[in-house]
Amino acid sequence: MTSASKLIQNYVNGKFVRGPREFSDINPADGTGIAQVSEADESLVNQAVESARLALGGNWDKLAVPARAALLHKIADGIEARFNDFVQAEVADTGKPVSLASKIDVPRGAANFRVFADLIKNAGIEAFWTETSDGVSALNYCARKPLGVVGIITPWNLPLLLLTWKAAPALACGNCVVVKPSEETPATATLLAEVMQSVGVPPGVFNVVHGFGSGSAGEFLTSHADVNAITFTGESKTGSAIMRAVAPTVKPISFELGGKNAAIVFADCDFDETVSGLADAVFLNTGQVCLCAERVYVERPVFDRFVSALKQKAEGLSLGWPGDSKTTTGPLISKEHRAKVLSYYELAKKEGATVVTGGGTPEFGDARDNGFYVQPTIFTGLPESTRCVKEEIFGPVCHIAPFDTEEEAIAKANDTKYGLAASVWTTNLKRGHRVAEKLRVGITWVNCWFLRDLRTPFGGAGLSGIGREGGLHSLNFYSELNNICVKL
Ligand code: NAD
Repeated sequence: MTSASKLIQNYVNGKFVRGPREFSDINPADGTGIAQVSEADESLVNQAVESARLALGGNWDKLAVPARAALLHKIADGIEARFNDFVQAEVADTGKPVSLASKIDVPRGAANFRVFADLIKNAGIEAFWTETSDGVSALNYCARKPLGVVGIITPWNLPLLLLTWKAAPALACGNCVVVKPSEETPATATLLAEVMQSVGVPPGVFNVVHGFGSGSAGEFLTSHADVNAITFTGESKTGSAIMRAVAPTVKPISFELGGKNAAIVFADCDFDETVSGLADAVFLNTGQVCLCAERVYVERPVFDRFVSALKQKAEGLSLGWPGDSKTTTGPLISKEHRAKVLSYYELAKKEGATVVTGGGTPEFGDARDNGFYVQPTIFTGLPESTRCVKEEIFGPVCHIAPFDTEEEAIAKANDTKYGLAASVWTTNLKRGHRVAEKLRVGITWVNCWFLRDLRTPFGGAGLSGIGREGGLHSLNFYSELNNICVKL
Protein backbone atom coordinates (compact mmCIF):
# COMPACT_ATOMS: atom_id res chain seq x y z
CA MET A 1 0.00 0.00 0.00
CA THR A 2 1.49 3.39 -0.93
CA SER A 3 1.35 5.99 1.81
CA ALA A 4 -1.28 8.08 -0.03
CA SER A 5 -3.50 5.01 -0.36
CA LYS A 6 -3.18 4.15 3.32
CA LEU A 7 -6.51 4.48 5.14
CA ILE A 8 -6.69 5.71 8.73
CA GLN A 9 -9.82 4.22 10.24
CA ASN A 10 -12.16 4.86 13.12
CA TYR A 11 -12.11 2.49 16.09
CA VAL A 12 -15.52 1.63 17.46
CA ASN A 13 -16.44 -1.18 19.84
CA GLY A 14 -13.04 -2.83 19.45
CA LYS A 15 -13.10 -2.84 15.62
CA PHE A 16 -11.52 -0.68 12.93
CA VAL A 17 -14.36 0.68 10.83
CA ARG A 18 -14.90 2.98 7.87
CA GLY A 19 -17.25 5.89 7.71
CA PRO A 20 -19.08 6.88 4.53
CA ARG A 21 -16.60 9.60 3.46
CA GLU A 22 -12.88 10.20 3.41
CA PHE A 23 -10.61 13.19 3.72
CA SER A 24 -6.89 13.64 3.11
CA ASP A 25 -4.13 13.71 5.68
CA ILE A 26 -1.46 16.12 4.41
CA ASN A 27 2.27 16.20 5.10
CA PRO A 28 2.98 19.83 6.14
CA ALA A 29 6.62 19.60 5.04
CA ASP A 30 5.82 19.32 1.32
CA GLY A 31 2.03 19.43 0.97
CA THR A 32 1.75 15.85 -0.30
CA GLY A 33 -0.91 13.37 0.82
CA ILE A 34 0.15 10.95 3.55
CA ALA A 35 -3.04 8.94 3.83
CA GLN A 36 -6.80 9.04 3.49
CA VAL A 37 -8.82 9.32 6.68
CA SER A 38 -12.21 7.70 7.11
CA GLU A 39 -14.65 10.30 8.46
CA ALA A 40 -17.21 9.21 11.04
CA ASP A 41 -20.76 10.35 10.30
CA GLU A 42 -23.39 10.89 12.99
CA SER A 43 -24.44 7.27 12.97
CA LEU A 44 -20.87 6.07 13.60
CA VAL A 45 -20.39 8.59 16.41
CA ASN A 46 -23.66 7.32 17.92
CA GLN A 47 -22.37 3.75 17.67
CA ALA A 48 -19.15 4.77 19.42
CA VAL A 49 -21.07 6.41 22.26
CA GLU A 50 -23.41 3.43 22.53
CA SER A 51 -20.52 0.98 22.64
CA ALA A 52 -18.82 3.08 25.34
CA ARG A 53 -22.03 3.05 27.37
CA LEU A 54 -22.40 -0.72 27.01
CA ALA A 55 -18.75 -1.28 28.00
CA LEU A 56 -19.30 0.87 31.05
CA GLY A 57 -22.31 -1.15 32.13
CA GLY A 58 -20.35 -4.32 31.33
CA ASN A 59 -17.24 -4.83 33.36
CA TRP A 60 -15.02 -1.80 32.93
CA ASP A 61 -16.26 0.39 35.76
CA LYS A 62 -16.34 -2.63 38.08
CA LEU A 63 -12.79 -3.73 37.31
CA ALA A 64 -10.77 -3.49 40.51
CA VAL A 65 -8.46 -0.49 40.54
CA PRO A 66 -5.20 -2.52 40.64
CA ALA A 67 -6.30 -4.46 37.53
CA ARG A 68 -7.26 -1.25 35.71
CA ALA A 69 -3.95 0.34 36.68
CA ALA A 70 -2.07 -2.74 35.44
CA LEU A 71 -3.83 -2.46 32.08
CA LEU A 72 -2.87 1.23 31.82
CA HIS A 73 0.77 0.23 32.35
CA LYS A 74 0.36 -2.32 29.55
CA ILE A 75 -0.90 0.46 27.26
CA ALA A 76 2.26 2.43 28.11
CA ASP A 77 4.35 -0.69 27.36
CA GLY A 78 2.48 -1.02 24.06
CA ILE A 79 3.29 2.58 23.07
CA GLU A 80 6.94 2.05 23.96
CA ALA A 81 7.05 -1.22 22.00
CA ARG A 82 5.92 0.71 18.89
CA PHE A 83 7.92 3.83 19.69
CA ASN A 84 9.24 4.31 16.15
CA ASP A 85 5.80 3.85 14.57
CA PHE A 86 4.41 6.55 16.83
CA VAL A 87 7.34 8.89 16.18
CA GLN A 88 7.08 8.47 12.42
CA ALA A 89 3.32 8.95 12.38
CA GLU A 90 3.55 12.08 14.56
CA VAL A 91 6.38 13.55 12.47
CA ALA A 92 4.56 12.90 9.18
CA ASP A 93 1.27 14.39 10.44
CA THR A 94 2.60 17.45 12.25
CA GLY A 95 5.88 18.20 10.49
CA LYS A 96 7.56 18.51 13.88
CA PRO A 97 11.25 17.56 14.04
CA VAL A 98 11.92 13.90 14.75
CA SER A 99 14.09 14.94 17.72
CA LEU A 100 11.09 16.62 19.34
CA ALA A 101 8.63 13.79 18.75
CA SER A 102 11.20 11.30 20.13
CA LYS A 103 12.07 13.41 23.15
CA ILE A 104 8.71 14.86 24.12
CA ASP A 105 5.56 13.69 22.32
CA VAL A 106 5.85 9.93 22.34
CA PRO A 107 7.58 9.47 25.74
CA ARG A 108 4.93 11.72 27.31
CA GLY A 109 2.21 9.65 25.62
CA ALA A 110 3.43 6.58 27.52
CA ALA A 111 4.20 8.53 30.71
CA ASN A 112 0.63 9.83 30.92
CA PHE A 113 -0.65 6.24 31.27
CA ARG A 114 1.98 5.34 33.88
CA VAL A 115 1.44 8.47 35.99
CA PHE A 116 -2.35 8.12 36.15
CA ALA A 117 -2.16 4.34 36.71
CA ASP A 118 -0.01 4.96 39.78
CA LEU A 119 -2.07 7.93 40.94
CA ILE A 120 -5.38 6.07 40.90
CA LYS A 121 -3.82 3.17 42.77
CA ASN A 122 -2.58 5.49 45.48
CA ALA A 123 -5.44 8.00 45.56
CA GLY A 124 -6.98 8.32 49.00
CA ILE A 125 -10.42 9.61 49.84
CA GLU A 126 -11.51 12.68 51.75
CA ALA A 127 -13.05 11.96 55.18
CA PHE A 128 -14.35 14.24 57.94
CA TRP A 129 -15.34 13.44 61.48
CA THR A 130 -18.38 15.68 62.00
CA GLU A 131 -19.78 16.81 65.38
CA THR A 132 -22.84 19.06 65.67
CA SER A 133 -23.45 21.46 68.57
CA ASP A 134 -26.23 19.21 69.87
CA GLY A 135 -23.92 16.23 70.25
CA VAL A 136 -24.57 14.22 67.08
CA SER A 137 -21.54 12.67 65.40
CA ALA A 138 -21.17 11.51 61.83
CA LEU A 139 -18.51 10.27 59.46
CA ASN A 140 -18.42 11.94 56.05
CA TYR A 141 -16.41 10.30 53.31
CA CYS A 142 -16.29 10.35 49.54
CA ALA A 143 -16.86 7.51 47.14
CA ARG A 144 -15.22 8.02 43.75
CA LYS A 145 -17.32 6.88 40.77
CA PRO A 146 -16.69 7.30 37.02
CA LEU A 147 -18.60 10.04 35.22
CA GLY A 148 -19.63 7.61 32.47
CA VAL A 149 -18.84 8.24 28.81
CA VAL A 150 -16.27 11.00 28.31
CA GLY A 151 -15.88 12.80 24.97
CA ILE A 152 -12.29 13.87 24.31
CA ILE A 153 -11.54 16.47 21.62
CA THR A 154 -7.94 17.33 20.89
CA PRO A 155 -5.87 19.70 18.69
CA TRP A 156 -3.05 19.08 16.25
CA ASN A 157 -0.03 20.61 17.94
CA LEU A 158 0.80 17.78 20.37
CA PRO A 159 -1.59 15.10 19.16
CA LEU A 160 -0.61 11.98 21.12
CA LEU A 161 0.58 13.88 24.18
CA LEU A 162 -2.65 15.83 24.63
CA LEU A 163 -4.95 12.93 23.76
CA THR A 164 -3.31 10.63 26.32
CA TRP A 165 -3.20 13.46 28.88
CA LYS A 166 -7.00 13.19 28.90
CA ALA A 167 -7.65 9.54 27.99
CA ALA A 168 -5.28 8.12 30.64
CA PRO A 169 -6.93 9.72 33.71
CA ALA A 170 -10.42 9.24 32.25
CA LEU A 171 -9.78 5.50 31.85
CA ALA A 172 -7.98 5.33 35.21
CA CYS A 173 -11.16 6.62 36.87
CA GLY A 174 -13.25 3.90 35.20
CA ASN A 175 -14.81 5.94 32.40
CA CYS A 176 -15.14 4.83 28.80
CA VAL A 177 -14.04 7.33 26.17
CA VAL A 178 -14.80 8.48 22.66
CA VAL A 179 -11.89 10.42 21.23
CA LYS A 180 -12.10 12.92 18.34
CA PRO A 181 -8.54 13.82 17.34
CA SER A 182 -7.79 16.80 15.13
CA GLU A 183 -8.56 16.28 11.45
CA GLU A 184 -5.01 17.53 10.74
CA THR A 185 -3.31 14.81 12.80
CA PRO A 186 -5.38 11.62 12.92
CA ALA A 187 -2.63 8.97 12.72
CA THR A 188 -1.44 8.46 16.30
CA ALA A 189 -5.01 8.16 17.66
CA THR A 190 -5.64 5.16 15.40
CA LEU A 191 -2.20 3.75 16.29
CA LEU A 192 -3.14 4.08 19.95
CA ALA A 193 -6.35 2.15 19.19
CA GLU A 194 -4.17 -0.64 17.77
CA VAL A 195 -2.24 -0.68 21.05
CA MET A 196 -5.51 -0.76 23.03
CA GLN A 197 -6.69 -3.74 20.99
CA SER A 198 -3.38 -5.58 21.29
CA VAL A 199 -3.11 -5.24 25.09
CA GLY A 200 -6.69 -6.37 25.67
CA VAL A 201 -8.57 -3.18 26.54
CA PRO A 202 -12.19 -4.40 26.30
CA PRO A 203 -14.22 -3.35 23.22
CA GLY A 204 -16.06 -0.05 23.71
CA VAL A 205 -13.77 1.26 26.46
CA PHE A 206 -11.66 3.33 24.02
CA ASN A 207 -13.16 4.56 20.74
CA VAL A 208 -11.79 6.88 18.06
CA VAL A 209 -13.95 8.84 15.63
CA HIS A 210 -12.30 10.92 12.93
CA GLY A 211 -13.68 14.09 11.43
CA PHE A 212 -14.04 17.82 11.77
CA GLY A 213 -15.73 20.14 14.26
CA SER A 214 -18.94 21.93 13.40
CA GLY A 215 -21.45 19.71 11.54
CA SER A 216 -19.10 16.73 11.86
CA ALA A 217 -17.80 14.24 14.43
CA GLY A 218 -16.78 16.96 16.93
CA GLU A 219 -20.23 18.49 17.13
CA PHE A 220 -21.98 15.07 17.03
CA LEU A 221 -19.95 14.11 20.09
CA THR A 222 -20.32 17.30 22.12
CA SER A 223 -24.08 17.51 21.59
CA HIS A 224 -24.74 13.81 22.28
CA ALA A 225 -27.13 13.35 25.20
CA ASP A 226 -25.40 10.13 26.36
CA VAL A 227 -21.96 11.69 26.63
CA ASN A 228 -21.52 12.58 30.29
CA ALA A 229 -18.57 14.99 30.09
CA ILE A 230 -16.45 16.79 27.52
CA THR A 231 -12.77 17.50 27.86
CA PHE A 232 -11.39 19.74 25.14
CA THR A 233 -8.08 21.30 24.18
CA GLY A 234 -8.03 23.83 21.38
CA GLU A 235 -8.83 27.40 20.45
CA SER A 236 -10.82 29.62 22.80
CA LYS A 237 -13.46 30.34 20.15
CA THR A 238 -13.98 26.58 19.62
CA GLY A 239 -14.37 26.26 23.39
CA SER A 240 -17.13 28.81 23.22
CA ALA A 241 -18.92 26.84 20.42
CA ILE A 242 -18.61 23.65 22.47
CA MET A 243 -20.07 25.39 25.52
CA ARG A 244 -23.13 26.21 23.44
CA ALA A 245 -23.37 22.62 22.15
CA VAL A 246 -23.18 21.03 25.62
CA ALA A 247 -25.58 23.50 27.25
CA PRO A 248 -28.85 21.66 26.46
CA THR A 249 -27.57 18.43 28.01
CA VAL A 250 -25.69 20.11 30.92
CA LYS A 251 -22.44 18.20 31.23
CA PRO A 252 -19.18 18.93 32.99
CA ILE A 253 -16.54 20.47 30.75
CA SER A 254 -12.80 20.86 31.10
CA PHE A 255 -11.26 23.34 28.69
CA GLU A 256 -7.58 23.93 27.92
CA LEU A 257 -7.62 26.83 25.47
CA GLY A 258 -5.40 29.42 23.81
CA GLY A 259 -2.83 31.79 25.25
CA LYS A 260 -0.87 34.97 24.65
CA ASN A 261 1.84 34.19 27.13
CA ALA A 262 4.29 36.69 28.57
CA ALA A 263 7.90 36.27 29.62
CA ILE A 264 9.50 38.82 31.95
CA VAL A 265 13.27 39.17 31.79
CA PHE A 266 14.98 41.13 34.57
CA ALA A 267 18.43 42.66 34.09
CA ASP A 268 19.81 40.43 36.85
CA CYS A 269 18.90 37.21 35.00
CA ASP A 270 21.45 34.59 34.06
CA PHE A 271 21.69 36.05 30.57
CA ASP A 272 22.79 33.05 28.52
CA GLU A 273 20.42 30.65 30.29
CA THR A 274 17.57 33.11 29.75
CA VAL A 275 18.26 33.56 26.05
CA SER A 276 18.41 29.79 25.55
CA GLY A 277 15.28 29.26 27.63
CA LEU A 278 13.35 31.88 25.71
CA ALA A 279 14.57 30.65 22.34
CA ASP A 280 12.77 27.41 23.27
CA ALA A 281 9.79 29.22 24.74
CA VAL A 282 9.27 31.20 21.52
CA PHE A 283 10.29 28.78 18.77
CA LEU A 284 9.75 25.21 20.03
CA ASN A 285 7.46 23.19 17.74
CA THR A 286 7.53 26.21 15.38
CA GLY A 287 5.82 28.22 18.11
CA GLN A 288 2.84 25.90 18.06
CA VAL A 289 2.68 25.11 21.76
CA CYS A 290 -0.10 26.76 23.75
CA LEU A 291 2.54 27.65 26.36
CA CYS A 292 4.88 29.46 23.95
CA ALA A 293 5.82 33.04 24.81
CA GLU A 294 4.62 35.54 22.20
CA ARG A 295 5.17 38.61 24.42
CA VAL A 296 8.63 39.13 25.90
CA TYR A 297 9.19 42.04 28.31
CA VAL A 298 12.85 42.88 28.99
CA GLU A 299 14.21 45.29 31.61
CA ARG A 300 15.64 48.26 29.75
CA PRO A 301 19.36 47.96 30.70
CA VAL A 302 19.61 44.57 28.93
CA PHE A 303 16.97 45.18 26.21
CA ASP A 304 19.25 45.79 23.20
CA ARG A 305 21.62 43.00 24.18
CA PHE A 306 18.72 40.60 24.66
CA VAL A 307 17.08 41.45 21.32
CA SER A 308 20.30 40.84 19.44
CA ALA A 309 21.00 37.56 21.34
CA LEU A 310 17.50 36.19 20.62
CA LYS A 311 17.85 37.31 16.99
CA GLN A 312 21.04 35.26 16.77
CA LYS A 313 19.21 32.23 18.19
CA ALA A 314 16.34 32.66 15.72
CA GLU A 315 18.72 32.93 12.79
CA GLY A 316 20.62 29.86 14.02
CA LEU A 317 17.55 27.62 13.91
CA SER A 318 17.71 24.87 11.35
CA LEU A 319 14.57 24.84 9.20
CA GLY A 320 14.60 21.47 7.56
CA TRP A 321 12.91 18.22 6.72
CA PRO A 322 11.18 16.98 9.87
CA GLY A 323 12.80 13.54 9.60
CA ASP A 324 16.33 15.02 9.61
CA SER A 325 17.86 14.74 13.10
CA LYS A 326 19.56 18.16 12.67
CA THR A 327 16.27 19.99 12.03
CA THR A 328 15.16 22.20 14.91
CA THR A 329 12.19 23.86 13.22
CA GLY A 330 9.60 22.28 10.98
CA PRO A 331 6.72 23.77 9.00
CA LEU A 332 3.44 25.05 10.39
CA ILE A 333 0.60 22.54 10.41
CA SER A 334 -1.33 23.60 7.29
CA LYS A 335 -1.65 26.00 4.40
CA GLU A 336 -4.52 27.77 6.23
CA HIS A 337 -2.51 28.14 9.41
CA ARG A 338 0.46 29.48 7.46
CA ALA A 339 -1.81 32.05 5.80
CA LYS A 340 -3.01 33.10 9.26
CA VAL A 341 0.52 33.44 10.68
CA LEU A 342 1.74 35.34 7.61
CA SER A 343 -1.26 37.66 7.86
CA TYR A 344 -0.08 38.58 11.39
CA TYR A 345 3.45 39.13 10.07
CA GLU A 346 2.01 41.62 7.53
CA LEU A 347 -0.29 43.16 10.12
CA ALA A 348 2.62 43.72 12.52
CA LYS A 349 4.45 45.65 9.79
CA LYS A 350 1.34 47.76 9.14
CA GLU A 351 0.93 48.32 12.88
CA GLY A 352 4.44 49.86 12.87
CA ALA A 353 6.64 47.00 14.07
CA THR A 354 10.37 46.87 13.52
CA VAL A 355 11.21 43.50 11.99
CA VAL A 356 14.29 42.33 13.90
CA THR A 357 14.45 39.10 11.91
CA GLY A 358 12.23 36.99 9.66
CA GLY A 359 8.79 38.25 8.74
CA GLY A 360 8.22 36.07 5.67
CA THR A 361 8.68 32.62 4.18
CA PRO A 362 11.96 30.78 3.59
CA GLU A 363 12.98 29.48 0.17
CA PHE A 364 14.52 26.04 -0.11
CA GLY A 365 14.60 25.35 -3.84
CA ASP A 366 13.14 21.89 -3.27
CA ALA A 367 9.82 20.23 -2.37
CA ARG A 368 9.73 22.05 0.97
CA ASP A 369 8.67 25.13 -1.00
CA ASN A 370 5.30 23.35 -1.33
CA GLY A 371 5.19 22.88 2.45
CA PHE A 372 4.02 25.33 5.09
CA TYR A 373 7.23 26.86 6.46
CA VAL A 374 7.56 30.41 7.74
CA GLN A 375 10.58 32.27 9.01
CA PRO A 376 11.16 32.49 12.78
CA THR A 377 10.33 36.11 13.46
CA ILE A 378 11.00 38.79 16.08
CA PHE A 379 9.25 42.14 16.21
CA THR A 380 9.86 45.16 18.41
CA GLY A 381 8.31 48.60 18.64
CA LEU A 382 4.60 47.76 18.72
CA PRO A 383 2.24 49.59 21.08
CA GLU A 384 0.70 47.25 23.66
CA SER A 385 -2.78 47.87 22.24
CA THR A 386 -2.04 46.45 18.76
CA ARG A 387 -3.61 43.22 17.57
CA CYS A 388 -0.25 41.48 17.19
CA VAL A 389 0.43 42.03 20.89
CA LYS A 390 -3.10 41.09 21.94
CA GLU A 391 -4.06 38.08 19.78
CA GLU A 392 -2.70 34.54 19.75
CA ILE A 393 -0.69 34.00 16.54
CA PHE A 394 0.50 30.43 17.26
CA GLY A 395 3.64 30.59 15.15
CA PRO A 396 7.42 31.02 15.62
CA VAL A 397 7.13 34.66 16.55
CA CYS A 398 7.37 37.06 19.46
CA HIS A 399 7.26 40.76 20.18
CA ILE A 400 9.91 42.13 22.56
CA ALA A 401 9.23 45.29 24.55
CA PRO A 402 11.29 47.09 27.21
CA PHE A 403 10.13 47.88 30.78
CA ASP A 404 11.50 50.02 33.59
CA THR A 405 9.86 48.75 36.80
CA GLU A 406 8.65 45.46 38.24
CA GLU A 407 5.10 46.86 38.57
CA GLU A 408 5.07 47.91 34.92
CA ALA A 409 6.19 44.43 33.78
CA ILE A 410 3.50 42.72 35.87
CA ALA A 411 0.81 45.10 34.61
CA LYS A 412 1.81 44.53 30.97
CA ALA A 413 2.00 40.76 31.40
CA ASN A 414 -1.47 40.72 32.96
CA ASP A 415 -3.01 43.02 30.34
CA THR A 416 -4.58 40.21 28.32
CA LYS A 417 -7.86 38.34 28.17
CA TYR A 418 -5.89 35.09 28.16
CA GLY A 419 -4.16 33.63 31.22
CA LEU A 420 -2.42 30.37 30.44
CA ALA A 421 1.29 30.59 31.25
CA ALA A 422 4.13 33.00 32.03
CA SER A 423 7.81 32.86 32.77
CA VAL A 424 10.00 35.09 34.95
CA TRP A 425 13.76 35.25 34.53
CA THR A 426 15.82 36.63 37.44
CA THR A 427 18.56 35.52 39.84
CA ASN A 428 16.74 37.34 42.66
CA LEU A 429 14.64 34.47 43.95
CA LYS A 430 12.62 36.72 46.27
CA ARG A 431 11.57 38.75 43.26
CA GLY A 432 10.90 35.56 41.28
CA HIS A 433 8.39 34.40 43.91
CA ARG A 434 6.88 37.87 44.33
CA VAL A 435 6.28 38.45 40.61
CA ALA A 436 5.11 34.88 39.91
CA GLU A 437 2.43 35.16 42.55
CA LYS A 438 1.02 38.35 40.96
CA LEU A 439 0.62 36.92 37.45
CA ARG A 440 -2.92 35.92 36.51
CA VAL A 441 -2.14 32.61 34.80
CA GLY A 442 -2.46 28.87 35.37
CA ILE A 443 1.29 28.23 35.45
CA THR A 444 4.32 30.47 35.99
CA TRP A 445 7.84 29.22 35.45
CA VAL A 446 10.76 30.93 37.18
CA ASN A 447 14.03 30.53 35.26
CA CYS A 448 12.65 27.70 33.15
CA TRP A 449 9.92 26.89 30.67
CA PHE A 450 7.90 23.78 29.76
CA LEU A 451 9.17 21.87 32.81
CA ARG A 452 6.14 19.82 33.81
CA ASP A 453 5.41 17.54 36.72
CA LEU A 454 2.28 15.65 35.66
CA ARG A 455 0.99 15.59 39.24
CA THR A 456 0.61 19.39 39.32
CA PRO A 457 -2.48 21.35 38.22
CA PHE A 458 -2.59 22.54 34.62
CA GLY A 459 -5.07 24.93 33.04
CA GLY A 460 -5.68 28.57 32.40
CA ALA A 461 -7.43 31.70 33.59
CA GLY A 462 -9.73 33.90 31.50
CA LEU A 463 -9.97 32.91 27.83
CA SER A 464 -7.33 30.22 28.41
CA GLY A 465 -9.62 27.68 29.96
CA ILE A 466 -11.98 26.31 32.53
CA GLY A 467 -10.83 23.97 35.28
CA ARG A 468 -7.54 22.26 35.99
CA GLU A 469 -6.25 18.89 34.88
CA GLY A 470 -3.15 17.07 36.13
CA GLY A 471 -2.63 14.80 39.12
CA LEU A 472 -5.55 14.72 41.54
CA HIS A 473 -7.22 17.55 39.59
CA SER A 474 -7.67 15.16 36.67
CA LEU A 475 -8.89 12.37 38.93
CA ASN A 476 -11.44 14.76 40.42
CA PHE A 477 -12.64 16.02 37.03
CA TYR A 478 -13.07 12.48 35.64
CA SER A 479 -14.88 11.24 38.77
CA GLU A 480 -18.29 11.75 40.25
CA LEU A 481 -17.70 12.23 43.97
CA ASN A 482 -20.49 10.93 46.17
CA ASN A 483 -20.23 12.23 49.74
CA ILE A 484 -21.58 9.67 52.17
CA CYS A 485 -22.65 10.91 55.60
CA VAL A 486 -23.09 8.18 58.23
CA LYS A 487 -24.62 9.12 61.57
CA LEU A 488 -22.75 7.42 64.38
P1 NAD B 1 -9.27 24.01 17.23
O1 NAD B 1 -10.08 24.59 18.32
O2 NAD B 1 -9.43 24.53 15.86
O3 NAD B 1 -9.53 22.44 17.10
C1 NAD B 1 -9.35 21.57 18.21
C2 NAD B 1 -10.25 20.37 18.05
O4 NAD B 1 -11.61 20.80 18.14
C3 NAD B 1 -10.12 19.65 16.70
O5 NAD B 1 -10.22 18.27 16.93
C4 NAD B 1 -11.33 20.17 15.93
O6 NAD B 1 -11.80 19.29 14.93
C5 NAD B 1 -12.36 20.28 17.05
N1 NAD B 1 -13.46 21.22 16.79
C6 NAD B 1 -13.43 22.36 16.06
N2 NAD B 1 -14.65 22.95 16.08
C7 NAD B 1 -15.46 22.15 16.84
C8 NAD B 1 -16.82 22.22 17.23
N3 NAD B 1 -17.61 23.22 16.85
N4 NAD B 1 -17.32 21.23 18.01
C9 NAD B 1 -16.53 20.22 18.42
N5 NAD B 1 -15.23 20.09 18.07
C10 NAD B 1 -14.69 21.05 17.30
O7 NAD B 1 -7.76 24.11 17.73
P2 NAD B 1 -6.45 23.73 16.93
O8 NAD B 1 -6.25 24.74 15.84
O9 NAD B 1 -6.48 22.29 16.59
O10 NAD B 1 -5.32 23.92 18.06
C11 NAD B 1 -4.65 25.12 18.31
C12 NAD B 1 -5.26 25.81 19.51
O11 NAD B 1 -5.23 24.94 20.64
C13 NAD B 1 -4.48 27.05 19.94
O12 NAD B 1 -5.40 28.07 20.26
C14 NAD B 1 -3.74 26.58 21.18
O13 NAD B 1 -3.39 27.61 22.08
C15 NAD B 1 -4.73 25.65 21.78
N6 NAD B 1 -4.08 24.70 22.68
C16 NAD B 1 -4.27 24.84 24.03
C17 NAD B 1 -3.61 23.99 24.91
C18 NAD B 1 -3.79 24.11 26.40
O14 NAD B 1 -3.39 23.19 27.11
N7 NAD B 1 -4.35 25.19 26.91
C19 NAD B 1 -2.78 22.98 24.41
C20 NAD B 1 -2.62 22.88 23.04
C21 NAD B 1 -3.27 23.74 22.16
